[in-house]
Amino acid sequence: MKFISTRGKADAPNSSYAITKGLADEGGLFVPETFPVLTETEFKQLCDMNYAERACTILHKYLEEYDFDNLLTACENAYGKFENSDPAPVVKIDENLFVMELFHGPTLAFKDVALTLLPYLLKQGALYTGIKEDILVLVATSGDTGKAALEGLKDADGVKIMVFYPSEGVSDMQKLQMRTQEGRNVNVVAVKGNFDDCQTAVKNIFSDKNTNQLLKEKGVILSSANSMNFGRLAPQIAYYFSAYCDLVNSEQIKLGDKIDFVVPTGNFGNILAGYYAKRMGLPVNKLICASNSNNVLTEFFADGTYDANREFFKTVSPSMDILISSNLERLVFELSGRNCELTASRMAELKKVGKYSLSSEEKKVLDKEFFADYCDEEECFDTILEMFEEYGYLLDTHTVVAMKVAQGYIDYSETDCATVVLSTASPYKFTQDVLKAISGKTQKDPFIAASTLNELTAAPIPEQLLGLKKKEVRFHDVIERTETLDAVMQFVEK
Ligand SMILES: *Cc1c(COP(=O)(O)O)cnc(C)c1O
Repeated sequence: MKFISTRGKADAPNSSYAITKGLADEGGLFVPETFPVLTETEFKQLCDMNYAERACTILHKYLEEYDFDNLLTACENAYGKFENSDPAPVVKIDENLFVMELFHGPTLAFKDVALTLLPYLLKQGALYTGIKEDILVLVATSGDTGKAALEGLKDADGVKIMVFYPSEGVSDMQKLQMRTQEGRNVNVVAVKGNFDDCQTAVKNIFSDKNTNQLLKEKGVILSSANSMNFGRLAPQIAYYFSAYCDLVNSEQIKLGDKIDFVVPTGNFGNILAGYYAKRMGLPVNKLICASNSNNVLTEFFADGTYDANREFFKTVSPSMDILISSNLERLVFELSGRNCELTASRMAELKKVGKYSLSSEEKKVLDKEFFADYCDEEECFDTILEMFEEYGYLLDTHTVVAMKVAQGYIDYSETDCATVVLSTASPYKFTQDVLKAISGKTQKDPFIAASTLNELTAAPIPEQLLGLKKKEVRFHDVIERTETLDAVMQFVEK
């Protein structure tokens, strides 16, 4: 399948080109030329499959040049790294209310679902496109992508990975996970600033022709593991289908019933994958976009204007502390009727004055497909406690944002659809804040906090976190955001 750039000037002949390249040359994002729609027979077959098979079936609709059996083996390997080889178990919380737990992978966040598979997609893609150079994966992270990408790509041949995270914008556990990363091809650097600063710095390096030329002479090409890369997005489409099939199989719904998904949103990658699933024929009623206090998206959905000129809050859900949601560009592109010029000019406006607006027709389409709301800090803490007291279910600081918004949506819409909340991280990744919500106590040491939380809730502490305590901190660099390019060059020369 061909891929087109949202900004129109740099199409990709196939998925391997789009995936290895990451971002189009003019700064646009690659989107599939069409959305393949599943037939009813295919849908029924999907329900009889295990997760790896489901994922491979969905992925192969886009990654047509990838060998099917090979891709299936890669999916089996990737998803074998999850508890029970199931990266997306669905848990029933209450009548018509479910949580899809996407955090049972190697780094305890939903990003593992895509990033355990991305190394294969990149390496195989490089073979298909005849790339001889080494691939340098640059990552801007709000905490979880960085670790998941590092873990997925460590010691991979022909690939190097460099991660930039906001020095004060991630949780203690997230920081420790990244700074203790093993592997001979990895580098981790803290940047003074917030996630948007990291993301902008990385995007600028991608779109800088001279830098790309210089790197090529050194035998290196750039790629991205952020959700700007279609290879990150595609594996995420599969779990929307998988949740649906699981609900059909457990007779919670009938094939064809519409359901709602509620997604804790930052860069708009996860929820966009849900929108793509809907375009592929998944019976979705509404996609519900849940934000924290950085509610730029809530306002966008309310009035059709994206306005990033606002105060930035550091919240207890740091992976959602984002004012420039990159993947919204892909949705806006669809809303515009796939108008590349209009999308490019809106993105130029966003860069220049920090805002752009939809037309009233576009806004109507948006209203039909989405609902959006946000949850502030106090509601976060209160809802974690409430959910634990009422259901004995422990939520992390991101998932709770979606749960709170889900409750509001269910009350307001009086929907009788099944509602699935996407759970994006283990509560232990954000131990101190979850502990504070449950007990009212503040604990600086994340490991003491974890064992206290465990005593109070009996929720098991993931092995991956316990192991961190003994690991050596390997990365110490803290740089200014103007120094990111230099840091990349130094790493390449090493
Ligand atoms: C990345 C992340 C999000 C936001 O997902 P997007 O795809 O960026 O919208 C939410 N929760 C957690 C725990 C995350 O790591």
